Amino acid sequence: MSRLIGIYGASGFGREVMSVAREQYAQSNKRLVFIDDNAANSDARVNGYDVLTWQAFVEQADDGAAVAIAIADAAVREKLMARCAEAGIAGCDIRAANVVTGDNITIGEGAILQPFVILTSDVRIGRAFHANIYSYVAHDCVIGDFVTFAPGVKCNGNVHIEDRAYIGTGAILRQGTPGKPLVIGSGATVGMGAVVTKDVPAGVTVIGNPARVMEK
Ligand code: UDP
Repeated sequence: MSRLIGIYGASGFGREVMSVAREQYAQSNKRLVFIDDNAANSDARVNGYDVLTWQAFVEQADDGAAVAIAIADAAVREKLMARCAEAGIAGCDIRAANVVTGDNITIGEGAILQPFVILTSDVRIGRAFHANIYSYVAHDCVIGDFVTFAPGVKCNGNVHIEDRAYIGTGAILRQGTPGKPLVIGSGATVGMGAVVTKDVPAGVTVIGNPARVMEK
């Protein structure tokens, strides 16, 4: 029986993650497929991979089956992780071969680390973290669950990022200090290219340089 690895989400990010997963599992007997709830029909294929509905995946899943959730939206990721757990399907981590990790890094289940990501040292990260290409996390950062980094995020030392925050492409997070880390509140969004010089409250969106709260 084939051992299925599902990449959940057959859209933009999912297709990028699939190519990393292919390298990661190149020497194994795994069968890689996409899972997508909007799979048009049972014959759907994307970039040469079958696209299964969740139901079809569960039907075909064997003991070794595992899923990586390659969807940037934190709430969706959380929902789908719970769905996998309920079905007894393990999460799998995707990590590009050239990711650099230093000393004392802890990282929760279901992380996706895309090419050229660096986690320097003494970093603690929660579940289902996404670090898109060319992002880094420097020393003494603490990152919560379901946090998403778009490409090229520069997260400097002593930054704390709470659950479900989204950091846009090329954003720069100023370094904090051990006694006063820079804090990005839960569910906050940092716009692309923003230069964040002070704490960001939970739930708000900040943009610009220096980053300011965007009024609704
Ligand atoms: N999707 C899904 N189940 C969900 C939510 C989304 O299968 O509950 C799929 C959706 O059909 C789409 C992909 O996940 O194909 C998300 O793609 P999107 O372009 O919105 O996000 P990105 O790829 O940028 O993370």
